Amino acid sequence: MSSSVTLRLPSIDGLLRHPACVPLLERYGREALLSRLRQLLDELRADVLNGQLSSIEISPEVLAGRVGERLAQQQRSNVRRVFNLTGTVLHTNLGRALLPDEAIDAVQMAARYPLNLEFDLASGKRGDRDDLIEGLIRELTGAEAVTVVNNNAAAVLLTLNSLGARKEGIISRGELIEIGGAFRIPDIMARAGVRLHEVGTTNRTHARDYEAAISPRSGLIMRVHASNYSIEGFTARVPTAELAELAHRHGLPLLEDLGSGSLLDLTRWGLPAEPTVRQALLDGADIVTFSGDKLLGGPQAGLIVGRKELIAKIKKNPLKRALRVDKLTLAALEAVLGLYRDPDRLAERLLSLRLLTRPQADILAQASRLQPAMAEVLGVPWQVSAVQALGMIGSGSQPVARLPSAALCLRPQVSKRLRGRCLLNLEAALRNLPIPVLGRIDDDALWLDLRQLDDEPAWLAQLPQLQVES
Ligand SMILES: *Cc1c(COP(=O)(O)O)cnc(C)c1O
Repeated sequence: MSSSVTLRLPSIDGLLRHPACVPLLERYGREALLSRLRQLLDELRADVLNGQLSSIEISPEVLAGRVGERLAQQQRSNVRRVFNLTGTVLHTNLGRALLPDEAIDAVQMAARYPLNLEFDLASGKRGDRDDLIEGLIRELTGAEAVTVVNNNAAAVLLTLNSLGARKEGIISRGELIEIGGAFRIPDIMARAGVRLHEVGTTNRTHARDYEAAISPRSGLIMRVHASNYSIEGFTARVPTAELAELAHRHGLPLLEDLGSGSLLDLTRWGLPAEPTVRQALLDGADIVTFSGDKLLGGPQAGLIVGRKELIAKIKKNPLKRALRVDKLTLAALEAVLGLYRDPDRLAERLLSLRLLTRPQADILAQASRLQPAMAEVLGVPWQVSAVQALGMIGSGSQPVARLPSAALCLRPQVSKRLRGRCLLNLEAALRNLPIPVLGRIDDDALWLDLRQLDDEPAWLAQLPQLQVES
């Protein structure tokens, strides 16, 4: 490779005018192309001087190809669609609930045009953004009043701070939970300025425990849905109705953080029972908070519903302004809530509910249909089978409940010593596809739970690009 004739890199000007670079110039613009060309030439300069590169390697065609790859890489957005085949439907790390078409249309409208976000079209005066969804939420939950914030963590923070600052918040030791790492009830209480007064034990808390804690310093009683963990065995929990009666006897409000907060009884679709918002209010909770993007199936949001005078107090808190929802969220939320007016057709129209209730036989048939294509791509070292599997709702809804589902089970046919590495290589290869495919490794196999695979053509089309390192 070394020769007496020193090679010279092409000039920037020459490259910019070269036919190989013209399409790049048109696609990415002069500035981006120029900076990437300079960067590449700088990197190559030393190698050229040392005679380590051939004339082909520094030809305009090859350089343009390399720069083109870098520009394409740079242009690819960081927010990317993936296939969630993990088996967890409301996956917090993968964006939770998928929106139905009605909500997507509403978001598009709200993004594209001016709208009456805080403008009352009837009077022509300034409006309140909560008014856009208050009527619907009242109708669906029986609440007197409503306010909406960025997410349920914000709803809890705002409610605690508005109703309990500088006072004590009484809560059972069994409900001092942590959700998704950063949301811990004791920390949120502290940040809300509420002094934590924990009562009872991890597994058993009685009405007398709450009663003994009540003093002139008390500001509220709080109850939190255990969400992502379950206490079984020798347990005791005071029913909401009884706790509400006790709170009201002492002039205290009862807050209930329902987490998922279902609007309808899910058992009608064969899903595990979840407390509904309406029932919590009927039982006497004064304020109920819940997420928009968990079981409700809407956009990320925190809904605060309950007594009129308490909601008014919450809305006056200056923190409300810092935690408010944006117009896109409100548009999506209204559209999703609208679907709940027709419960008979909800499972067809609300995408998240449709996915949660997809019959196992249907998913298994899909797995059998896709098995040959997957087996062919992976070849001999892998056993590919279409099997029944168990998925989860996710997002802290029913942590122990399992959804009967079906999967492609990919099992490496190699010695036990090599299996782990094989599985990690396949997992990485699936992640490297144009639309990354995310499954889960369990029991010496990689599982692709197909409950959420609705775009089968796109999934199949990219399969031949799978490149597993061996
Ligand atoms: C999920 C959850 C939260 C947090 O809700 P986000 O909408 O994720 O902020 C708070 N409390 C409970 C009980 C939850 O399950």
